Amino acid sequence: MSDVAGPPTPSPADLVKVVALDGPAGSGKSTVARRVAQALGWRFVDTGATYRAVTLAALRSGVPLGDGEAVLAAARAARIELSTDPAHAFVRLDDTDVTAEIRGPAVTSQVSAVSAFPAVRELLVDLQRQAMGTQGAVVEGRDIATVVAPQAAVKVYLDAEPAVRARRRAGEAASTGLTSAELESAVAEAISARDALDHQTNRLEVSDGAVHLDTTHMTLDQVVGAIVRLVEAAGLART
Ligand code: C5P
Repeated sequence: MSDVAGPPTPSPADLVKVVALDGPAGSGKSTVARRVAQALGWRFVDTGATYRAVTLAALRSGVPLGDGEAVLAAARAARIELSTDPAHAFVRLDDTDVTAEIRGPAVTSQVSAVSAFPAVRELLVDLQRQAMGTQGAVVEGRDIATVVAPQAAVKVYLDAEPAVRARRRAGEAASTGLTSAELESAVAEAISARDALDHQTNRLEVSDGAVHLDTTHMTLDQVVGAIVRLVEAAGLART
């Protein structure tokens, strides 16, 4: 990652034209962020994808995932390309499209451990800020409003009841031969384990000034509309 000359990384003070969208797994962040970015004509940055890509790089290079130095070295050596086009989101690792692979169980079960290393986070926050640029970005993750873009004009913490989050995630999963009730309960377990790990390292927190949006009883259009209105109220939306 470090050997690729990219644009200069904007400083947090320049990252104002930003919707910071934080929340737990299955809260709908990704879909919502993409749709809001499309509505505004802004970039879309999926920060979870960067942690997933580094996890895949570490798995591929065979380093022990508990060894922070080794994982950092794998992260530095990895070439990660993150598309910021909300209509065509993809991730490439070392010139190969890994968009689907990083959502698989091997990566999903290890990503919380990898993302707990502070040096890995520092490296990836830099990459995320580069991806954002300063002309408008909708950024989704866990620490966007607190760490990545604390000056974001709009901060939203997206949440939903755990059962609803599990149902949404299970609905996204490919056919596994399980009944939908079995799938939901397996996904619910995996989600709560990942939330617990993310909470342990204080990454999943509601920032001061964030609007807490419980989407349990909201449609996608309602959520997108609510966020676009917040951007308009902040005086940043295109007319
Ligand atoms: O959002 P997604 O499910 O793709 O995130 C995968 C994992 O990456 C999370 O469970 C969390 O451990 C980590 N992550 C993070 N900080 C972010 C985004 C994701 O630590 N900003």
